[in-house]
This record gives sequence, structure tokens and C-alpha cells, in this order.
Amino acid sequence: MPISAAEFRPAPAPPDSPSGAPALLNRESAETYRSLVNEVAQRICERLTEVDRPWTGIAPAELAPAVDAVDLDRPLPTFGDALDEIGDLYLRDAVWFHHPRYLAHLNCPVALPAVAAEAVLASVNTSVDTWDQSAGGTFIERRLIEWTAGRIGFDSEADGVFTSGGTQSNLHALLLARDEAVEHIVKNSETALRSAEVLPRLRLFASPHSHFSVAKAARLLGLGEDAVVTVPADARFRMHPGALDAALEHCRGAGLVPAGVVATAGTTDFGSIDPLAAVAEVCEAHRVWFHVDAAYGCGLLVSRQRRDLVDGIERADSVTVDYHKSFFQPVSSSAVLVRDRASLRHAAHHADYLNPAEAVFPNQVDKSLQTTRRLDALKLWMTLRVLGPDAIGSMFDRVCDLAAAAWARLEADPRFETAAPVSQLSTVLFRVKGGDEAQRLAREAIAAAGEGMVAATRVDGRTALKLTLLNPETTLEDIAAVLDALARHGATLQEA
Ligand SMILES: *Cc1c(COP(=O)(O)O)cnc(C)c1O
Repeated sequence: MPISAAEFRPAPAPPDSPSGAPALLNRESAETYRSLVNEVAQRICERLTEVDRPWTGIAPAELAPAVDAVDLDRPLPTFGDALDEIGDLYLRDAVWFHHPRYLAHLNCPVALPAVAAEAVLASVNTSVDTWDQSAGGTFIERRLIEWTAGRIGFDSEADGVFTSGGTQSNLHALLLARDEAVEHIVKNSETALRSAEVLPRLRLFASPHSHFSVAKAARLLGLGEDAVVTVPADARFRMHPGALDAALEHCRGAGLVPAGVVATAGTTDFGSIDPLAAVAEVCEAHRVWFHVDAAYGCGLLVSRQRRDLVDGIERADSVTVDYHKSFFQPVSSSAVLVRDRASLRHAAHHADYLNPAEAVFPNQVDKSLQTTRRLDALKLWMTLRVLGPDAIGSMFDRVCDLAAAAWARLEADPRFETAAPVSQLSTVLFRVKGGDEAQRLAREAIAAAGEGMVAATRVDGRTALKLTLLNPETTLEDIAAVLDALARHGATLQEA
């Protein structure tokens, strides 16, 4: 029975915090919001001024008890108290990617306009899935997809969508590849085949240096990790197109079905770029889906010096880009792009409440694996509108130049050996004199002392140290100082 107007009582205002601080962001709390944002900005400013090393090197055993001790059922009196608390639990020992001696993983210092946009999108809390939840956000995302597609060299048939990261972009692309292959086989089969019968016959092809998310995607897509055929690479860690051709031939000969080839434009460890045009050639000859994982190398799309390294990318069926790597965007910011928008239909689902098939308004949810989704696009938008693409491209060029200079320096330094040829992008692989243990200990020692951070990986069955440069403010002197620290610790360890 409906309630009458007389019976209706407005709900009580939502409870505020014990201190009286407003619970929700709205018109009434706008002033509190302003002072809160000012307070946060103030604290971040102080922190940025204080940070004098990439990391304090704190041990898990030291930090875990402090986090465990927090009583999450008993709120603190004020916002300020909560900010103090995260200051101790999180900010004090955070790993700062903007520090010029953070040289470890594929993390970037963030573009200032993007950080500002992050505050905007969190406050509005748009969900860029349907028109009636995102309005202008829909077009902002679409324009950026179009812009990126243009940089790739795709035409107006292209499309795509923002994702949470390269892992999701690769999964999405390979889902499309899988479903294109299944659809083709089922359609052309003389017997009534079901897609479940086809899946075990599908194979994906990638070099040994492709990202692990490719194998993971194969598993999630019901193909199994064994479905990824490893295509040999050359001495510079780039896929061998002749070997790819042979592998595809062999696959068909064995009654299996090539569903997709993944070329990597910037391998995570080596920064090597598979020969995209040659791989495209082979894929076209075999009529197999060609995916380019440019999670790392996407910054080349805006580079003035190195754009030719990704020539051939325009022949891909799908491309992964991680703006949160070489476009200096805050996590998360990534996209998957396709040359032919029709292929996105494989991920579409029509829900009565959201995007019924007869819906007339533009929506992005038809294209996405996610439903509720952040307007991450706003960060890239703001970055392009304030800094422009050339600024991004030159920052990426700078770190690539820096990596080449660091590599040359290591080659000439008797305390070290290089563990790979000079990178096409911004990684540097090397060893301090000594075995695997020496690498590990030297790396841990410099991190614990706050002298710098480097990564480690395996090359030819041995541990190697790795610099991944993404900070255009890092200088060769910073790198020299970190190398000196590594050599010093390495030598001490050898004596011990
Ligand atoms: C980082 C990376 C990924 C994964 O991207 P996330 O954003 O971390 O999920 C995929 N491929 C390559 C080549 C990468 O470097």
C-alpha cells in the first residue's frame, strides 16, 4: 500500500562523525570540503618538502603492528587526527616515485594537471558507464580514445575504452581475439560445433619476454596457460618474425587454431620492441588477430625522436596503452583500442536496467568489461590541455636518452657488467661484481639505507639488477650516486 503524503516523514539527516564533521560531500559540507582539501594540500606540501630519499626502507615487521593496532570500529575525533594517523601509517614510509633516485619499477612521477583532475573526478564521482551517469564524461573519454587511435594511425572505424590497467587491457583484447576466432570457426564448421569444444584448440603466440598478464589472460579466458605458444626472440629480446611464421604453420598443421599474436612494444624487463611491421605481415598472411601490448612503450606515440620505433602498430587489431606508465598519469589510467569497432561487440551485454538493446543514448558500458567505472580519462584530458602531447613525449624521450647514457657508463665501469644490450626504451640491466646473492644484498642494502631503489630480475638464468627510468628529473649524477652505493655495498659484502 502506498504511503500517503501525511504519513511521509523526511529521513533524519545522516549521522555526522562523533566530532560533528559532516559525513557526506554536499552543499552543506562545501566549506568543510574546502578546508579539508586545503589541509590535505598543506600536508602533502610539507611531506614533499621533507622527502629526501625514495623510501625509508622500513621493514614489514615494523609497520604491520602499527596498522594492526588501529581499532577500525572506533573513529577518531577529527579529520586532522585521521590525517595524522595516515601520516604515520602510510605517508612517512611511502615509496615516492617522484624522487630522482627511485629507479626501480615502471612507476612514474605524476603530471600535475592530472593530479588536479583526480581531485575533480573523485568529488563528482561520475561513473562513465551510461549517459545518465556521466553525460560530458562520455564524450571526454570518447575524444581521448579517438585521439589515441589517431596517434596509433587507426582510422575512424577504430574505437576502444579506458580500463584499470594493462592487465585488464590485455585480457580485454585477447577476449576479443578469442571470440573472433570462435565465431569464425563455429560459423564455418560443417558440423554443429559449440564454442566450448573450440576453446581447447585455440592458441596464442607471444615472445618469452611478453608480460605475464598474457598467460594469465589465457587462463582466465578458459584456454589455459599452456595455450600460449612461446615464439623465440633474438639476442635483443625481440620476437623473431620467421619463428612466428613457423609456429603458426606448425599450429595449423597440428589441427590447432591460432587465435591471436601478442607483440610487445616495450617489454617490461628489456624495453625491447618486437618488429611490429614484420609481425603484422605474418599475422595478415595467416589471418590471425594481431595485438600490440604497448603498456610501456605507448609514450612513443607522442615522441618526436622515437615514434618510428612503433611503426606498424597501425596494422594491429588491438592495442594496449598504459597512460599510467609513459604518459605520467596517476594510477589508474589505461586503455584498450581496436582497429574495428565492431569487434567490441564480444564484450557487450544488454541489461534491462542499464543499457537495453533499444537504448538511444551514447554509452560506454557496451564496450567495457567493467560496469561502474572511474572517469580516469579526465586526468589525461587535463594533462593534454595544460601540457600538450609534446611535453609528454619529450619527458619520455629524456628518460630513454638517460638510460642509454647510464648503460654506456656501466659498460665502462669495471665494478659492474651490463647484463643486456642497450635498451630501446628506458631500462638498464646490469650486475655488480659477484653472484646472485651479491645482487640481492646490494639492492636491499641501498634501499634500507635510503640511497636509492633499483629492481631485480633474471637474465639468462642469473639475477640481474634493473633500472627502470621514468623520471625525467633524474640526472646521470643521481644514477652515478646509486651505482656507487651499490658497488660500495657489493664490495663490503664480498669482504664479509
Ligand atoms: C606493466 C605492463 C603490463 C601490465 O599493466 P598494469 O597496468 O600493471 O596492469 C602489461 N604489459 C606490459 C608490457 C607492461 O609493462
